[in-house]
Amino acid sequence: MGQQVRDGFVELYGTGPEGVWSAPGRVNLIGEHTDYNDGFVMPFALPHTAVAAVSKRTDGVLRLHSADVEGGVVELRLDDLAPETDRNWTAYPAGVVWALREAGHPVTGADVHLASTVPAGAGLSSSAALEVVIALALNDLYELGLQRWQLARLCQRAENVYVGAPTGIMDQTASACCEEGHALFLDTRDLSQKQIPFDLAAEGLRLLVVDTRVKHAHNEGEYGKRRAGCEKGAALLGVDALRDVAYDDLDAALARLGDEEEIVRLVRHIVTENHRVERVVSLLESGETRAIGPVLVEGHASLRDDFRISCPELDLVVDTALASGALGARMTGGGFGGSAIVLAEAADVDTITKAVQEAFAAAGFTAPRVFEAVPAAGARRLSRGTSSR
Ligand code: ADP
Ligand code: MG
Repeated sequence: MGQQVRDGFVELYGTGPEGVWSAPGRVNLIGEHTDYNDGFVMPFALPHTAVAAVSKRTDGVLRLHSADVEGGVVELRLDDLAPETDRNWTAYPAGVVWALREAGHPVTGADVHLASTVPAGAGLSSSAALEVVIALALNDLYELGLQRWQLARLCQRAENVYVGAPTGIMDQTASACCEEGHALFLDTRDLSQKQIPFDLAAEGLRLLVVDTRVKHAHNEGEYGKRRAGCEKGAALLGVDALRDVAYDDLDAALARLGDEEEIVRLVRHIVTENHRVERVVSLLESGETRAIGPVLVEGHASLRDDFRISCPELDLVVDTALASGALGARMTGGGFGGSAIVLAEAADVDTITKAVQEAFAAAGFTAPRVFEAVPAAGARRLSRGTSSR
């Protein structure tokens, strides 16, 4: 896609870009809603990427174009960029420029043309891919010298403050820092990370992503409620964040919450989910990949029953896949739609896929999109200058 995006840039702006960059979407293997509780997550990068051709400008102008959106080039003045003033897709790249400038980095403009193969609104983080590809391009072009985790922080700030979406740090860090053939074990408190080998094919395993096509976009309110509930739980327990509640102390902590039933459920999910991430890390590190299946299933039950963010379509994927021989399955991402993941023996993939498709048809749901996810590379520069590829 790099060449296509480069050609698109030439067509729009009449000259070649200074470079072409890519940044992937992600799937979270385990560790859901833990990232705003200072906890653990374990995403890996998808082969689906946002690709951007970019050149610097010196006149304080930002020109943006997406091959995937109707309409022409959007031209913005850097001095006019202000939080929550843009409800369009351009808020993501413009937000990154705003965040960089606000942090004191001397960005004086850019021409951008991009395209993405990350499905938007499917819980696979097309928004972070968009942010990270712009951040990496500007970091290189303006020689800002920022590290990957710093770019991720700036992108999160762009999404939280400029776009106005209260998300954690996982998506941007995954897109910026993941490595091919690995899952990223990330401590969202200090952003320390460890690359965990996750080579499914070598073990005869497959990981399917099932996009239910149920859009999650309208559920920011529910996300905010869960987040506020977790913060209340931490306050009631006298800790900075739910990360600080040890798994071994969970029962005692829940007892202290008394009849705060809803808070009890939220706290139980976060504390057990952090523990599940640690279990998955240790299983993968000891080569017991198949044994993560039941941990994924436990994670789904916790999101469905305690955190209450699943939906009938996600539950149907999980139940059908498990009944058809999957080793494990769970919803992934923020919830209320989006995608589920299924871990299966390679030989069972066709049976499981067919069973899920048939179950959706029988339930009268929109046909799901099913694809295989191979842990892919994080953000990178694809080419430089106008002549190279
Ligand atoms: P997710 O990150 O789960 O895909 P979000 O709602 O966070 O969902 O982000 C989706 C938004 O990102 C889209 O509504 C659009 O504004 C923007 N976006 C994603 N991909 C593209 C693209 N290829 N071109 C322009 N905007 C895009
Ligand atoms: Mg997003």
